[in-house]
Amino acid sequence: AKAEGGARVVFFEAAMGDAVRERFRLERELRLAIGENQLRLYLQPQVDAAGLQVGCEALVRWQHPERGLVPPIMFIPLAESSELIVSLDRWMLAEVCRLLAQLKREGHPLRISVNISPRHFRREDFVDEVKRLLAASGADASYLVLEVTEGMVIGDVNDVIAKMNKLKEMGVQFSMDDFGTGYSSLAYLKRLPIHELKIDKGFIQDSTSDSNDAALVETILSVAQHMNLQVVAEGVETQEQADFLNARAKVIHQGYLFGRPEPVDTWLERHRA
Ligand code: C2E
Ligand code: CA
Ligand code: CA
Ligand code: CA
Repeated sequence: AKAEGGARVVFFEAAMGDAVRERFRLERELRLAIGENQLRLYLQPQVDAAGLQVGCEALVRWQHPERGLVPPIMFIPLAESSELIVSLDRWMLAEVCRLLAQLKREGHPLRISVNISPRHFRREDFVDEVKRLLAASGADASYLVLEVTEGMVIGDVNDVIAKMNKLKEMGVQFSMDDFGTGYSSLAYLKRLPIHELKIDKGFIQDSTSDSNDAALVETILSVAQHMNLQVVAEGVETQEQADFLNARAKVIHQGYLFGRPEPVDTWLERHRA
């Protein structure tokens, strides 16, 4: 029995070893990817009730030499467990600033939102970094939206608010991403200088079939209205979902019904047309 148990442990270690090795491999490849220009900027439109594009969200993709186009779910959580996420977010932020400056030069300015992970936001030099990237690119801060999550409010809330206010003074706007999926939503909401809430796609997708989700969406809409916050609904896939939202509030839609994330070049061609 003892020998059998030992064999099982060895087997278990070997299996775990594979997972760990695979993880290290992915991490090493991702580190190289950032330097070797394998990351891609994708954009997904955000439209108003009339279907007019009022902004877009920047979403990263990884063009892997063998694995093909890798979606964020395959590498963002891994990146977020280390400092890699800072390099990745910084690359995206720089690309978005360049695009903002280009759109401005071409006379088609548009608001672009970019995801900022908590680890990145919490860095001491975050405000200076954004300032530097804006200055280096010539982008207008007022077209840059930083999508943050409740996860950034771990630790010193006052420090978080101070940083946000510095960026806000420069003209940068803040959007609270995945709203309703975290813990502290309402308690912090009134203290943070944000201008927008994003309702997570999980709530939107069940809003027309599940009365609990419908009630939740209605509550978020009413909170936003009382606090004078703009709302972006994520994951709108059907006309029924869009109608549900439009009947209740002035909402910006982001979802496959209006457009999927697409490579920056394709997006640019349509935006210029
Ligand atoms: P998120 O910030 O909540 O972004 C919205 C996700 O919903 C995107 O997934 C988008 O493609 C997807 N989506 C939009 N409309 C629809 C729809 O109608 N139906 C469905 N099923 N999905 C829709 P994506 O691009 O796979 O990104 C997943 C997550 O990865 C993002 O969720 C975000 O948390 C993270 N992420 C993506 N890019 C970046 C980045 O540059 N930096 C950081 N830190 N995180 C990123
Ligand atoms: Ca987002
Ligand atoms: Ca998110
Ligand atoms: Ca989400």
